Amino acid sequence: MISIIIPAYNEQANVPVAAERISKLMAENDISYEMIFVNDGSADSTWEKICEEAEKNDNICGISFSRNFGKESAIFAGLKYARGDACVTIDCDMQHPPETIVEMYNIWKNNDVDVVEGKKSSRGKENIFYKGFSKLFYGLIKHASGLDMTAASDFKLIDRKAVDALNEMPERLTFFRAMSSWVGFKTEYVYFDVSQRENGKSTWSVKSLFKYAINSITSFTSAPLHAVTVCGVLMLAISVVLAVNTIYNKIVGNSLEGFTTVILLQLLTSSIIMISLGIIGYYISKIYDEIKARPRYVVRELKNLDKKCEEKK
Ligand code: UDP
Ligand code: MG
Repeated sequence: MISIIIPAYNEQANVPVAAERISKLMAENDISYEMIFVNDGSADSTWEKICEEAEKNDNICGISFSRNFGKESAIFAGLKYARGDACVTIDCDMQHPPETIVEMYNIWKNNDVDVVEGKKSSRGKENIFYKGFSKLFYGLIKHASGLDMTAASDFKLIDRKAVDALNEMPERLTFFRAMSSWVGFKTEYVYFDVSQRENGKSTWSVKSLFKYAINSITSFTSAPLHAVTVCGVLMLAISVVLAVNTIYNKIVGNSLEGFTTVILLQLLTSSIIMISLGIIGYYISKIYDEIKARPRYVVRELKNLDKKCEEKK
């Protein structure tokens, strides 16, 4: 059996579409499944829609959060409650073509692979700003952690073994895409075209995307901290050269000049120190967040799912 995990945030129009398309597809291909909708604190009637679908179809269940915890938390909640031998994560807006699930399923079934990752062969319609931003973001990640994630997506099939490994990762600040690569396992890829959103519009604002990017980078790599050290070393080298120069000038007897150098040095060092402090502060705030060890999400209601099933694990 596979568990299909669908995070939904204000997707009242898409829930029935997703439920119908996926259940039909699974029936046609004779795949036994459960569909777990995770209502991420939607303000509209997403949860009612999920419950309606769950009444109609026993394979559909739902988890409802007490507020909006973000897509990452929704995915991890789904993984926690999933009972299948493999889990598939897919967007509710049908931008990830459900037909690809079957493709992933077949690869998983017929080969000895643990993760089947969906890769975007095209990114679909995006505005210039979004495109540039995501390019910069993935560039940074690639540089910092060596993982090329330009085409990566949250659309994956993950075997039980890898799901258990993910469930055991204790951190609160998660970056699903990278974490599922980090646990390793044999990975196979399928390519899909990002389709148009079914209904409604994307719920990511510029601010939330920016936050997501910074969070992902800092929770996945400490490279910015090392960059601080590199800057420090560079500054030291420059300082040595300047120091030699200053001493030479002093000996030769024209030491009154160099006032400019002092000011420039002052500006440079203080700005670098400030940036460094900022970066360190950011990591400290992360440590603070982790150490509080708050749960990733708070569940308000379950539908067709057993609380016991989580406790058993
Ligand atoms: N989503 C979520 N919580 C959020 C934001 C989004 O669960 O806070 C879900 C959303 O319902 C959808 C998926 O994440 O199923 C992708 O969201 P969206 O389509 O807005 O993002 P995009 O496709 O632009 O990356
Ligand atoms: Mg989308």
